[in-house]
Amino acid sequence: MPSAESETFAPRDPARLTRCDRLPPLPAAHTPTAEASVTTTAPKPTLLDALAEVLPAGQLITGEKTGGYLRDQSDSTAAGVPFAVALPVNTEQVAAVVAFAAAHRIPIVPQGARTGLAGGANAIEGSIVLSTTRLNKIVSVDAEDQTATVQAGVRTYALARAAAAVGLFYPPDPGSWKGSTVGGNVATNAGGMLCVKYGVTGNFVRQLTVVLADGSIVRTGQRTIKGVTGYDLTSLLVGSEGTLGIITEITVGLLPAPAPASGVSATFAGTEAALAAAALIVASNRRPSILEYLDGPSITAINAFDPESKLPAGAAALLLVQSDQAGQAHDDVEEYAAILRAEGATEVLVAHDPAHLDQLMTARRLLQPALQAARGSSLNEDITVPRSQLQALLTGLTEISRDLSIPIGTGGHLGDGNLHPMIGFDAGNPAEVEAAHEAFARVIRLAISLGGSASGEHGIGMLKQAHLDDELGPILRDLQRRVKAAFDPDSLLNPGKKL
Ligand SMILES: Cc1cc2nc3c(=O)[nH]c(=O)nc-3n(C[C@H](O)[C@H](O)[C@H](O)COP(=O)(O)OP(=O)(O)OC[C@H]3O[C@@H](n4cnc5c(N)ncnc54)[C@H](O)[C@@H]3O)c2cc1C
Repeated sequence: MPSAESETFAPRDPARLTRCDRLPPLPAAHTPTAEASVTTTAPKPTLLDALAEVLPAGQLITGEKTGGYLRDQSDSTAAGVPFAVALPVNTEQVAAVVAFAAAHRIPIVPQGARTGLAGGANAIEGSIVLSTTRLNKIVSVDAEDQTATVQAGVRTYALARAAAAVGLFYPPDPGSWKGSTVGGNVATNAGGMLCVKYGVTGNFVRQLTVVLADGSIVRTGQRTIKGVTGYDLTSLLVGSEGTLGIITEITVGLLPAPAPASGVSATFAGTEAALAAAALIVASNRRPSILEYLDGPSITAINAFDPESKLPAGAAALLLVQSDQAGQAHDDVEEYAAILRAEGATEVLVAHDPAHLDQLMTARRLLQPALQAARGSSLNEDITVPRSQLQALLTGLTEISRDLSIPIGTGGHLGDGNLHPMIGFDAGNPAEVEAAHEAFARVIRLAISLGGSASGEHGIGMLKQAHLDDELGPILRDLQRRVKAAFDPDSLLNPGKKL
């Protein structure tokens, strides 16, 4: 077993601390990763020649260069060597590749920016990886109807900026938003810090253009605010992790731009007081646009990862609360600050200027890479619990960490009851690897026992399938498999993921 010392997130490798550019490390598309030295089982030339006829030159990658497309950002998930990587630029090319895969019974793995944390985008041995990185056009932004239509590979941040350019607002803001694609966000139903007020990606999706498993092209949903014709297949495709169809184009609803935000951070000597303050904020008739949490180990790891973060050191818990309510953001935040002080916050910092606020929120966005870097590898949880069970969850996490002598740093979307306990481990230490996986399973079982879920926003991918029976039960699991079979009878779309 790991030593007691390993329960901390004290970084081992100081060199890691200098590589932070204040953005999460994102995979560089088209750049072979360390796994680029793949030894391919040479694909049959005739099949490759046939695939090359489906796409124009320069849109197909084979051999060693496929190494740049093997996996997402999760640790401890398997990846196989793909037959080829396809880089289509429009829906018709996606359809042609999928029809080819169907005709030759080749599994197909849709891939966005590979920022996923559950192994959902990992290549499968002998598959065609369909990367959406070249489906990168913003098709339209309609200020009057308050909608935008984008190709699936458009980055989340680019969509948000295009909306802002006409005075509108696209709220879904996963921490990875500068790198993740809108298609990947839809396929995982991604959340972010603003969910506590605005909801998740699925709440904004109106219409999807989708390539089905046989290569046919359909459009689900409506551009309008309402629409109930037929079953709601748009909602079914949202969060389907590439197992039901390949999303090529997305129409989202937009909102009027919010007011300039104000925010407050507060530290606490114990978690009980922090949770009591958060409960009062949620119960008040003022609606926070952000209500986030970091525990002591997360604060330490973020400050070590990026010293510019300057989060208050030494606290057991930190809350970040923001309001963007037109005409009252300033007053909301002063009221939140009063609640935080009354509940025993040790340090309360109010930020009405955008630069200070941005510094706080940027630091919070570093939670995942900071905790991953602290021990070299991490297993990233994404559990949810009813808000009433948050203290029981935090107590249980401490017990699991102590029992297994494995460090767990926790932060995330407290206002949603969606936290990200991150289990740090040294991949070169087999005992730590085993303890980390045991902790991972125990944390999910704990969340489910408290009335929660294995995943709030990252998805199931390859990481969490073992827990589906606990949460869904056999009848629902069977129904889900039959839904999959209706969409994909030969199980060629991202097989082995999600279900
Ligand atoms: C630093 C960091 C912070 C993060 N913060 C958050 C957060 O706050 N909230 C959150 O929800 N997630 C977060 N994530 C996880 C990740 O960014 C999201 O899951 C994101 O939605 C993945 O988008 P992607 O384009 O990278 O998709 P990928 O990782 O490439 O793929 C994700 C899944 O979607 C499928 N897929 C991708 N594109 C398509 C398509 N066009 N059609 C069908 N299926 C497709 C893939 O097969 C895979 O199953 C974070 C990740 C990192 C590294």
